[in-house]
Amino acid sequence: MKSTESTLLSTVRASQSERIVVGVSSCLLGQQVRFDGNHKHNKTITDALGQYWQYLPLCPEMAIGMGVPRRPIRLHGDETTPRAIGVSDPSVDVTQALTDYGQRKAQELTHISGYIFKKGSPSCGMERVKVYKGKNDLLSTRGVGLYARQIMLAQPLLPVEEEGRLADEGLRENFVQRVHVYHAWQQLQHGGLTARKLIDFHTQIKFTLLAHCEPTYRELGRLLAGLSKQRLQSVADEYIAQLMSALKKPATRTRHSNVMMHIMGFLKRHINRGDKQELIDAIRHYKLGRVSIEVPLVLLRHHLRYAPSGYLQQQFYLQRDW
Ligand code: SF4
Repeated sequence: MKSTESTLLSTVRASQSERIVVGVSSCLLGQQVRFDGNHKHNKTITDALGQYWQYLPLCPEMAIGMGVPRRPIRLHGDETTPRAIGVSDPSVDVTQALTDYGQRKAQELTHISGYIFKKGSPSCGMERVKVYKGKNDLLSTRGVGLYARQIMLAQPLLPVEEEGRLADEGLRENFVQRVHVYHAWQQLQHGGLTARKLIDFHTQIKFTLLAHCEPTYRELGRLLAGLSKQRLQSVADEYIAQLMSALKKPATRTRHSNVMMHIMGFLKRHINRGDKQELIDAIRHYKLGRVSIEVPLVLLRHHLRYAPSGYLQQQFYLQRDW
């Protein structure tokens, strides 16, 4: 592989030894930190996803000294600026403590590449948290946990997900991919950004991006075409903001199929008619939902070995191992 091709793949590989770090609500790892002394162990998080990264468990309610067991809290008041107060004792108000802690952790946690939040928590919930008014009236289900809000405000590019949504295979895969890409971007920044590295990064992410959002794929190509040394950081900032936003869009089976057919186009001179038909069938079966994406991807990787193409070999899309 050429040296200029190595930016993203080398950082992905480095991350496999260095381990990617992902923040997580402590109770999801089985730690008994909930108000009643229980946990909410989620096996998808520890067993299925734990192989990809190292977790950094954080419990904001424990961190601000609420202890275990403690009186439960909930969001109360205005939907956008609620307070966190005691369910049975409104004089318990930890709004400021949770907000301050969130702001402090957001500044510290620059090394994490993703965050998994506990659903519905007045502290950790990233969306759809219940907000109450009066004594017991439900005002809204569109609140955000006070701690989670600060993390997401300070780090808008950080991939975040709720534990419940990770049971869905598509959403889980999307989150894992975003974490890996974001980690690679962090590594790129730490190593010192150059125009060459940025263009190499884009080259390596092209097919992945194409599977998620073709308009952004074209827009980012135009953005980098006008790259100058003076505008490097501002272009890079815009680039990663658009890329991470595009990757949130689900990559459908149809889009994946189009990308794989496109990749097959690079290989067609190197494979015989039978192999080509086999690939087309595998992609069609995937598109129809009969097989997993790994079936056509394994075939593509196999043919790539015998018909090496530097451009294809560097593609993050073909290197995915989750
Ligand atoms: S949801 Fe958050 S605050 Fe509540 S127990 Fe879990 S980690 Fe602690």
